[in-house]
Amino acid sequence: MTITCLNHQRSHEFICYQCNSLMCSKCISGHSKDHPDHSDQFEHIDDIKDSLSTLKLDDIIDTTVKNENDYSKNNSDSNSNNFSQINNKLKSLWESLRSSTSRYQRLSTTENEIKEHFEQLHQYLIREEHKLQRDIINDKHTITNQIDNNINHLKYLINIIMLFNKFNSSNDSNNDDKNKDSYSSNSVSTIEDTTSLYSTTTIMESIQSSSSLQSFINHSNQTLFNEHLDAFNIEELLEQHSNDTTSLLLDIIHKYNNQFNKLADAITENNNLTLSSYKLTIKQPDFNQLNSIIEQSIKLDIIESTESMNTKKQ
Ligand SMILES: [Zn+2]
Ligand SMILES: [Zn+2]
Repeated sequence: MTITCLNHQRSHEFICYQCNSLMCSKCISGHSKDHPDHSDQFEHIDDIKDSLSTLKLDDIIDTTVKNENDYSKNNSDSNSNNFSQINNKLKSLWESLRSSTSRYQRLSTTENEIKEHFEQLHQYLIREEHKLQRDIINDKHTITNQIDNNINHLKYLINIIMLFNKFNSSNDSNNDDKNKDSYSSNSVSTIEDTTSLYSTTTIMESIQSSSSLQSFINHSNQTLFNEHLDAFNIEELLEQHSNDTTSLLLDIIHKYNNQFNKLADAITENNNLTLSSYKLTIKQPDFNQLNSIIEQSIKLDIIESTESMNTKKQ
């Protein structure tokens, strides 16, 4: 864009905001005749400079009062003063920003009120869900305990059987000392440690997929029924029993009875008392009914807009 007017060879001095064109002093008089409605839309550069030099951003304040009429009145007031269009634009941008922000905040408030209302319903549903689940969860817990106890029980018995088999085979080969060494060599873990290796959930999966006790034991032979783990501290026991394996076996079985019989009775009794059968009946909820309950408790109406977004006015 050249700085001089091509038609009149004069410097540009005016801008018509409506046409967004630069004009010299000669152009502008013609423009006023051709477009009388643009007469308040153009400005001389001196007026713009004046206005910018006296511009105080402090004075750009939001004078819109809640309703639209006041806004337009204020706007025309500013036009009648000798403010540049730039001042007016600044003011209107600022007012638009203010109004958008407060509108946005009012929307957020409403949005939150809706959220809080439904939060009550969510909480109510969660409580109802938990109420129904409570007995089931308690029973599952009881069963888990029962399984854990029975697995310990079983593990002890299987260990006794494995021990018996070892004693038998070592008697056959008459090689007590060699076998004695093999027991102690791998005695790293106790029964409790191996139990924690496998969760009850995993154990149940294994039980379900095993058709016989033997296949369950085979399935768990690296963990629950690991024959290399010395469950009884055999070396010490053999010493106590002066290498008499029969006496040792009897001792272990006696300990087994002490440890588990009372416990097992208590569990069986307890289970019979607390475990119930349940029949669950499920019907698709009547969502129409639910809808009407919700509609009665909360409603969002679009009321006629009292303030337009200011973007179009600029
Ligand atoms: Zn114009
Ligand atoms: Zn010109």
